[in-house]
Formats: sequence, C-alpha cells, structure tokens
Amino acid sequence: MYDKVCKNCGTYLSDFYETGLVGCEKCYEVFKDEIENAVKEIQFGDMHTGKVPPFSSEEKSLLIRYERLFKEKENAVMEGRFSDVRAISEELIALKEKLEEKGLI
Ligand SMILES: [Zn+2]
Repeated sequence: MYDKVCKNCGTYLSDFYETGLVGCEKCYEVFKDEIENAVKEIQFGDMHTGKVPPFSSEEKSLLIRYERLFKEKENAVMEGRFSDVRAISEELIALKEKLEEKGLI
C-alpha cells in the first residue's frame, strides 16, 4: 500500500490515520490533503447521511466535541501554536478512544 512519510520526523501517513496525530509541523505540509480529507469525513461522513441509527445525546456531544477539536487543531496549526496542537492532540486521542469504544468511529 502506498504510504507517504514525513522525511523530517519519520511519521507515516498510516500513523496519522491510526492516531490522528502527526509528528511535527512538516507533517502538515506532507499530509495536507489527507488531513483535509479526514476533517471533511468527520464533518460530512456517516454522521449526516442517516445510514446509522440516531445517537444518544451523550454520543452526539462527544462527536461534536471531536469535530470541534479537530477544527481547533487545524487553526492552531495554521497559526503555528504548536504547544496548543500538542494539547489538543492529546485530548483528541482520549476522545477518539471513547468514540471507538462506543463504535462511533
Ligand atoms: Zn513530520
């Protein structure tokens, strides 16, 4: 399988898909398209197609929070606030684990 890699820090695209995390600021250039697509999938994915059963309000708020954090992370990246990016990423991982536990993503 084709796998892009960030030459700066050695993070693979598959690592990004696995964790939602990148290793350094260069990753955002290397994986730019994939990161954008990942954001779009979260915003316009199954959540809005009506293919899945309705979520409980708790599940919904988790998903919304996940979506928001993703956007926040993007903004932090654009603005070069890499310590924020790190903090947001950690929160995203915790949230992702919860969502995966519930089978939402
Ligand atoms: Zn990198």
